Amino acid sequence: MALIVQKFGGTSVADVECIQNVARRVVATKQAGNQVVVCVSAMSGETNKLVGLAHAIGGDDPLDREYDVLLSTGEQKTIALLAMAIHQLGHRARSFTGGQMGMRTDGAHTRARIRSVETERLRSVLDEDGVAVIAGFQGVDEEGNITTLGRGGSDTSAVAVACALEADVCEIYTDVDGVYTTDPRLVPQARKLGRLSYEEMLEMASMGAKVLQIRSVKFAMRYGVPIHVRSSFSADEGTWVTREEDVMERLVVSGVTCNRDEAKIHVKGVEDQPGIASKLFTPLSDSGIIVDMIIQNVSSDGSTDVTFTVPKGDYRKALDLATKTVSEIGAESVDGDEKIAKVSVVGLGMKDHAGVATRMFAALAKEGINIQMITTSEIKISVVIEEKYTELAVRALHAALVENGGEAPVVP
Ligand code: ASP
Ligand code: MG
Repeated sequence: MALIVQKFGGTSVADVECIQNVARRVVATKQAGNQVVVCVSAMSGETNKLVGLAHAIGGDDPLDREYDVLLSTGEQKTIALLAMAIHQLGHRARSFTGGQMGMRTDGAHTRARIRSVETERLRSVLDEDGVAVIAGFQGVDEEGNITTLGRGGSDTSAVAVACALEADVCEIYTDVDGVYTTDPRLVPQARKLGRLSYEEMLEMASMGAKVLQIRSVKFAMRYGVPIHVRSSFSADEGTWVTREEDVMERLVVSGVTCNRDEAKIHVKGVEDQPGIASKLFTPLSDSGIIVDMIIQNVSSDGSTDVTFTVPKGDYRKALDLATKTVSEIGAESVDGDEKIAKVSVVGLGMKDHAGVATRMFAALAKEGINIQMITTSEIKISVVIEEKYTELAVRALHAALVENGGEAPVVP
């Protein structure tokens, strides 16, 4: 008998019919001889509606404790309705809020982190042949205050519960049928991946393949719980996200992703001596600005250039801080550009194939796209380009590196 945690997102529980559909699916899984814990999100649109209400009354900065009390009600509705629907099909089910089941978090309202997960109450439902239905996205802190885990947090709730219960799999049901090689809306030739390693999924999720909350993948990776991303509207297999050793088909490039949420800052002519990078980046990190790519040129004439990227929302602040530092350390100039995009190719097979970068650059050159920055890791190559070429770049890279079946690259 397997223990399966199933998570259903907002679009899968959007209305009465959808909830009944989920109930049928849960019951079918149970009747196939499995124990089932279900974790649900709020009905689609519900959380946004609650956020709107919070701002309508609480202004720009509503009390965050009350904000969490309010937002957690979205999921609370769904668990009750789903438990009723399962009951209607003649099966036992019991709903639990985060606090009731023992999802303990720190006290950081609106972005709490999970500290521990109790399994006792869930186990007792399973032992009585019932289905445990739990509210995603929420927990309680040490004092019993309701907390929420950040938008998209139900994925993390589900995976954390799967880890605590040592479940055989955590199934994430959503409105897409798996993880694709790239966004199918941009590239019709995109194909569904059968299997993907945690590492690849992390690179793809953090770069804008918005299927899973990143934290959930980190949890699953730490505890080795397989994630199965699949559609709640079909019975087809989706994409398994597993340990690297379990990925048979090591594609050279398994995904092409893009991110338009960053901006670039260019510091020209800083002195090439110890301590400069630290002076430049300390004020940024002190202000909580997360720097992504950093590139420093080889120096000539004792001075060098530093270019880095920050989230678009922090661009003005980062530019101001850098300008201030530069007047202290005496660099030539600072400027920036918000109209950039980061396009990346990701693949486990890059570990044992040379030449991917060459083919990537050749494909971009063929389209006349200029590369402004390049960074690489073991399983990823990212380039920064002008924003207006994003779609063209994604299509060209997908055609050159994925559509040929991920063959070993030919070095020209
Ligand atoms: N309902 C929450 C949200 O919309 C959590 C989730 O769906 O994962 O962000
Ligand atoms: Mg989601």
